[in-house]
Amino acid sequence: MTFFQLPSDSEFEPRPERRIYAVLDSVEWLEGEIGERGSFAFDAVNADWFDSIDTELGPVRAGTLDPVVSIAEIVLASGQSILIDEIIRNAANKDEAGERRWIEILFDQGDLIVSHFPNLFGPPAVRKADIKPVPEKAVAALEQLVSLDEIDSATQKNLEAALAIQPGLAVSVYDVGQGNCNAVLNAAYQPLLYYDFGGGVMWHAGTVPPGLIGLCVCNHPPVILSHWDWDHWANALRAVTHAASGDPLALPWIAPRQKIGAVHRAFIAKLSNLLLWPDQGLTKLDVGPISVHKCDSTRSNRNHSGLVMEFRPGWAKGNGVLFPGDCDYDFLPDQVRQKQNYDVICVPHHGGKSPSANVFAPVAAASYKRLCYSAGDPNNYRHPRQETINAHRAKKWTPRDERYTFTGRKSGKQKFGHILLDPVWMVRSRSIPSPCACEVPYYQYRHNHRHWFTYAI
Ligand SMILES: [Zn+2]
Ligand SMILES: [Zn+2]
Repeated sequence: MTFFQLPSDSEFEPRPERRIYAVLDSVEWLEGEIGERGSFAFDAVNADWFDSIDTELGPVRAGTLDPVVSIAEIVLASGQSILIDEIIRNAANKDEAGERRWIEILFDQGDLIVSHFPNLFGPPAVRKADIKPVPEKAVAALEQLVSLDEIDSATQKNLEAALAIQPGLAVSVYDVGQGNCNAVLNAAYQPLLYYDFGGGVMWHAGTVPPGLIGLCVCNHPPVILSHWDWDHWANALRAVTHAASGDPLALPWIAPRQKIGAVHRAFIAKLSNLLLWPDQGLTKLDVGPISVHKCDSTRSNRNHSGLVMEFRPGWAKGNGVLFPGDCDYDFLPDQVRQKQNYDVICVPHHGGKSPSANVFAPVAAASYKRLCYSAGDPNNYRHPRQETINAHRAKKWTPRDERYTFTGRKSGKQKFGHILLDPVWMVRSRSIPSPCACEVPYYQYRHNHRHWFTYAI
């Protein structure tokens, strides 16, 4: 196998790109019907760089792709061109067999307005552009560039070893802005395992609380990645861990095998211990109080084809804590949907749109039940949606059960809104001492009449 090295800076000027090859990553539908007008985010590589490689000689190795990856966001409306109509039609069918489509974006010409982000954290340059299809031969080579095929799946034994953690006691839903980052904690409130390691990206990069430093990796916790959406892993690239604590990129990452783009591939190349879930035959893994379920791998939507976690702490009256990531209730694995009865749910998809009829009800017998919403304030998606909050209330969750990660900042004091779930030790202090240096302050504020005050978690 021939590998290609990236050209050095002197040979190759990576920015600003003249052209990029881009694959659709996500769509946010704007006002009107789905399929009319939306904001399309494309994951891209520099086309001049890519064309300079002779792919006939062998596959391109991902290596350090950072200098050649970027993100382009374009508002597209139907009726603009045949190609745009096709992109929109495919995206609207994403839950079905939506076809993956690469396009070439040519800057400084044409009528489209593109927000071109140099990386996940911006800020974007606003550029004029034209788009055209990518020839089939180049598509095959681009797919090879971003493919995970060369990475073997983990064995069940490897996964079980990575998931064998000390007994967990509490749960944390960290305030990372518009993203997701949850953890199972020991009695000292140090993370023993993370579920997602994300945070706000692109337009939402500013929703990550300023000064978020201290996410603890002292216990070398495994990270279970719900799915590959940027806002579920991006904080691993930010300096959010305490310097003495360790490097999140060196942790074991347990992740689903999904279709990704070059920005993800560049990130994966930095992970030293990636454990890809084996799709053949392994639908569920139980290790002590942790269960990991694999959603249906055949779905093209990343939200609904990833990994879902359950944690059963000693205090649970029902099935414990459900971490669904961005997977809607409808698409959760059958075993999860059949048993339901959770004490705590980290509400799917940051409280985004959800089919209300299928929302899970809480454990009837539980005196302690919680619904946690992880979202940034403000965010373009209006997460959490009021209709989603109402759909849960219709299933007997009450406002008293609700916790929001952004509550701390609603107070205007720029505090964190980390949510701590520990009914055994109802914490009343403003921050919690930790044996390591990476203390994460658990502040929560609730508005009562005209005042904000901290309250027991
Ligand atoms: Zn620590
Ligand atoms: Zn998400």
